[in-house]
Parts: sequence; structure tokens; C-alpha cells
Amino acid sequence: MDNIDKAKKLLADAEVVIVTAGNGMAQIEGLDILAQEKFDQEFPTIAQKYDVHTIGDALDKKLTSWQEQWLFWSQLVQKYSLSYQPSKTMRQLKQLIGKKEYFIATSTFGHFFETAGFNKNRIFNAFGDWTKMQCSSGINHGLEDDRAVVAEFAAKNAADANLVPKCKVCGQPMELQMPLNEHFYPDTDANTRFRWFLTGNEDKRVVFLELGVDDTSPQLLEPIVQLVQQFPQWSYVAADLEEELLPDNLQDRSAAVGNGAAALIADLVQK
Ligand SMILES: [Zn+2]
Repeated sequence: MDNIDKAKKLLADAEVVIVTAGNGMAQIEGLDILAQEKFDQEFPTIAQKYDVHTIGDALDKKLTSWQEQWLFWSQLVQKYSLSYQPSKTMRQLKQLIGKKEYFIATSTFGHFFETAGFNKNRIFNAFGDWTKMQCSSGINHGLEDDRAVVAEFAAKNAADANLVPKCKVCGQPMELQMPLNEHFYPDTDANTRFRWFLTGNEDKRVVFLELGVDDTSPQLLEPIVQLVQQFPQWSYVAADLEEELLPDNLQDRSAAVGNGAAALIADLVQK
């Protein structure tokens, strides 16, 4: 049996699917934080002023004012998330999961799975979600939706200080809910739901489906493989790994295909 057939069988036999989706999946959905080709053209002012040439580097940079910061964030969120259309791969993934129970743990922060119609209570955004905002004071004052703010900034297309969102508790400016500085507040409710989901499915036939996980989110790789090793009913299908990288005791219940998420999902949906 080749690995695709093995992956198909593991999927077909599974009662539960847990998707781990990383940077490669974000790229498929149109957001490549490491790409240099288009950044200078799309964000010439930021590129020139701050000497940054990728979205990742620009997100790491603290811009000089909150209004400039929010204008830039809004342009990003508007372009990559509010105008987002699910890719063919995303639509095929939905089809593949069908009516099975699922959970999605992802380092993609573009709100892609929610927009594609997956249940938001079955998604843990490990690296945050940039359609949400948190207080910048260093104290956790809760999460809020930022999409109305984004739409306002994007419509006005100006660094307007009056549009900068403020914390309802302490009045400090809000910031994107992403690990951009030392005070990032992960969604602990979603994390708890994920842990409960794992615990509740220890005895079920669970298949983990790794899609586009790479070095940018090691949390979704090694610890997940170790977790699968602990439960004999669980299996692992990897889009981006080669078989020899998986531990020996997983060989008979894993399929590492190594040709990327788009190719794997396309193969898996074919009967
Ligand atoms: Zn606050």
C-alpha cells in the first residue's frame, strides 16, 4: 500500500479528525508572511519608512504611532481576512471531514477556518487571531472583535487617531491578538475546549491530519506526534513530513506523504 492509500484508509476508518494547520496552510489561503516579492509594492510607505520587506517583519516592527499601526494592521486584515475566499483545498478539507467530529489547532491567525464555515468552538488559534484585539496595557482585559475597526480604517484609508480602538476597561489602545510582544493572551477558553476534546476522545479512532506545519510553529509538530504515540487508537497523517521522520512505533498507524497540504487533500477527497 502506498502512503496515499494508507492515509485514505486511516481517514476512512477514523471517527474523529484533528487538523493541525500551520504556515503552509496560510500560504494556500493566500497569506505568506515570509514572501518578499509583493510587499514593497503593496505597502510602499511601510517598506520604505521601516525597511521591512515581508509581512512577518512588518508585524514585528512597532510603528511610531497607534494610528499608523492600526491603519497598517487594518490594511492587512482587510486584504487577507475580510476579503478572504476559501481556497479549493479548504473547501475539499471541509468535504473530507464531512460529518465526522473534528477539532482544528492552527497557528494560522487569519480566521480562515471560521470564515470557511468550520465551527468556531472547534478551533484553537494557537498564535491568536488578527480579527480579534486585546488590551495593550500588559493586563488581560479580554478579547474583542476588531473587524468593524478594520473596516472603518480601511474605508477611510488614513491614520486617524480618533479611530484607534481603546480598551473598555482601562482606556489604553487595543492591539491585535497575536504574539507580537511579551504580552500575548492566547484564547484560554479555546485551549481548554481543545484539551477536553482530546481527553474525551482518548478511546476513539482519532486521525491527526498535519497540514502545512513547519518550523514556524514547532508547538504543532513534535508535541502532537508524542501525543499520538501515547494512544494506540490514534493515527497520524502528515502532508509535509517524510515517513522516516516519524517514530518507529507510529509506522503502522501513520502515513507521511510529504507532498504538501494541497496535494494531499486533493488526493484524499478522490474516492
Ligand atoms: Zn485595558
